Formats: sequence, structure tokens, C-alpha cells
Amino acid sequence: MNKIEHIGIAVADLQSAEQLYTRLLGTGPYKRETVESQGVITSFFKVGETKIELLEATGPESPIAKFLEKKGEGIHHVAYDVTDIGEAMARMQAEGFTLINQVPTPGADNKLVCFLHPKTTGGVLIELCQERKE
Ligand code: ZN
Repeated sequence: MNKIEHIGIAVADLQSAEQLYTRLLGTGPYKRETVESQGVITSFFKVGETKIELLEATGPESPIAKFLEKKGEGIHHVAYDVTDIGEAMARMQAEGFTLINQVPTPGADNKLVCFLHPKTTGGVLIELCQERKE
């Protein structure tokens, strides 16, 4: 694990959350991106070396909609930057963690990602992410 790449935060309304985080961080989002395959609209803020990723559901079937229903707004996942996602996934599996994605999946912000099930990580949804090389 190289560093915490970003922290994902589930929000009910992206526009008002963007306003809140702009006030909090003193600077606006640098990117908005929809990831249809994951049912999310994301908005990214830079905080030094790391980022905050706000997550809004694209519809009622989105994992974010289900998360909001169960837990309400708040921290959704912690994302760790890795150099080689295939290698990291193999290590996690060998350590007994449950992978939600069996193959690296395209994520927001030009990343390949894989999630680890929170039931095997002490209740925290973990995202492994690797920068995509073109
Ligand atoms: Zn994320």
C-alpha cells in the first residue's frame, strides 16, 4: 500500500455536498465523473497528497442508495493506492480477505479498482486502486 489515495463519502445530494466541501476545504472540486457500472456520480477534491471522493447514487439500485438507506450519509470507503492491483488482490486473497471484484474494475479518476468486503476488514469497505497506464 503506497498511501491513502482517497476517502469515499456517501452523500444524498451531490450539489449541496460539493458546496459544503468547498467551504470546508477552501477550494472547489476538480472533477465530476459518472461511473455507470458502479451506479455512482463522483466529485473529487484534492487535499494535499490525497483526495475526497463524494459519491451520489445514480438511482435506487445503486450501492450508494442502499448504503444511505442503511447507514445514512458519511464515510463509505477508504481507498489505498497500490502499484500493481493484480499483485495486491492476490496478496489480499491469500491473507483471507474477501474480494468483491474478482478482476480489476474500471473506477473513477482513471483507476483500476477492487473492493474488499467489509465483513472481512473490520467493518470498513476497502478499495484498492491503481492508476491506469495508457
Ligand atoms: Zn473510491
